Amino acid sequence: VALARTGRGDHIATQLAAIVGADGVTTGAAIAEEDTHDEALTASAVRPLAVVRPTSTEQVRELVVLAAREGIPLVARGSGTGLSGGCRPEPDSVVVAFDRMDRIVDIDRPNQVAVVQPGVTLAALDAALAGSGLLYPVYPGEMSASLGGNVATNAGGMRAVRYGVTRQHVLGLEAVLGTGEIVRTGGRFVKSSSGYDLTQLIVGSEGTLALVTEVTVKLVPRLPYSTTLLAPFGDLDALAGAVPTVVTSGVAPLILEYIDATAMTGIAAAMDLELGVPDEVRATAAAYLVVVLEATREDGLEADVATVAAVLTASGAAEVYVLPALAGAALISARERAFFVAKAAGADDIVDAVVPRGAVFDFMAEAARLATRWGAFASACGHVGDGNVHLSIFQPDPAARHELMAAIVGTALDLGGAVSGEHGIGTEKLEYFLATEDPVKLELMRRIKAAFDPDGVLAPGRLLDRGPSH
Ligand SMILES: Cc1cc2nc3c(=O)[nH]c(=O)nc-3n(C[C@H](O)[C@H](O)[C@H](O)COP(=O)(O)OP(=O)(O)OC[C@H]3O[C@@H](n4cnc5c(N)ncnc54)[C@H](O)[C@@H]3O)c2cc1C
Repeated sequence: VALARTGRGDHIATQLAAIVGADGVTTGAAIAEEDTHDEALTASAVRPLAVVRPTSTEQVRELVVLAAREGIPLVARGSGTGLSGGCRPEPDSVVVAFDRMDRIVDIDRPNQVAVVQPGVTLAALDAALAGSGLLYPVYPGEMSASLGGNVATNAGGMRAVRYGVTRQHVLGLEAVLGTGEIVRTGGRFVKSSSGYDLTQLIVGSEGTLALVTEVTVKLVPRLPYSTTLLAPFGDLDALAGAVPTVVTSGVAPLILEYIDATAMTGIAAAMDLELGVPDEVRATAAAYLVVVLEATREDGLEADVATVAAVLTASGAAEVYVLPALAGAALISARERAFFVAKAAGADDIVDAVVPRGAVFDFMAEAARLATRWGAFASACGHVGDGNVHLSIFQPDPAARHELMAAIVGTALDLGGAVSGEHGIGTEKLEYFLATEDPVKLELMRRIKAAFDPDGVLAPGRLLDRGPSH
């Protein structure tokens, strides 16, 4: 609308179209609703000046040069599944949506890497790798997320307990800096002692340092056998004791998730889950552990299942169910949808603070106490093997919720943790981050930002405040 109203707007729209083609620019009422927000529960939709859809690195470079010249902020958008408001537009910004840069450039079996454009989704990469014997193991619950978005948020997910997060898999990047310079970092090699690690600096930078235009990721062997175990616990202390015992059992679980009784009831009802847990066990379960194991051989898997089942039983699980393949897959896919189930139930915010693994139960207990104090309810579900259990917060009053969120984040930091384990800071956790982060580190981050993006073109107001350099 603003573009249509002003002569300058028309001028810029014309220049954008000259770079990406008329079919690659939308303005005003033509901007799709889904391009105005991500999935963060607290971030309302914002209409940008324009949405542009480049198809090449050169187009991205030209967009950055234009934005710097005209003083227009650029906000990158992958698939918009983020949970921190990271890709939510600014009213005066242009959104650079990467869904037309969705080419799998190469699947390189001898080097076990894939090279992809940033708009490639996790689902598309997984489909392309099917039959190759190789797997990109990073598994944030939302497979429609893009690799560019994953890189920018350093996405984690359920398999991080076994394989690590995005950071551990990105070997190289091509990216356009705020200066319009194109930088290539890393490569198809798995180690390097050759200067600053710019790849890792850009990973997790939430679009504030550079626009990622190509990603080289490391692949792992795709193991043919897997099994899901479900262990209800009546006693949370017993469950707390089980987690480190499973982690240190020598059987590295692929997935180790915690689901409290409320979340399990919610996802089971929403997804019509039939797991074979009798009513009397369900009635006394305070929470569940879900363990997925994988192996190269069937007999190896059986041995690992026996080891973990014994550990869970000895730790005080009410029962241990070894789920049939279909039920196991259904449980994991229901777990993936837990966010949407909580949203449908009226959740007002999500906490993804991370704490040292051994402190995660103290964190959850204190968060529950704080929730009661602020007249709220917190349901917990997530990556317990990483100390990163997410809390769905139910408190519709914004003022009370805000105080509660600050108190919960404060608890995580007191326990030696961090504001966000995997969803990123974006706009929605910025206040907590700026209030609690070491000022020396923040100032260093601002200086790094200024080196990559001296004119403050890229993602202002995300991850960092709008300092003088922006
Ligand atoms: C149901 C559900 C479950 C989820 N589960 C998990 C989970 O288990 N673990 C987890 O880590 N996350 C999870 N998420 C969050 C989300 O999927 C991740 O944050 C994901 O990495 C976002 O990818 P995207 O393509 O949707 O990025 P977007 O939301 O589009 O953008 C995310 C950030 O990346 C930036 N960005 C996007 N593309 C680029 C680019 N090419 N260059 C520079 N910056 C860019 C954006 O500006 C923004 O700051 C979940 C989300 C949902 C909805």
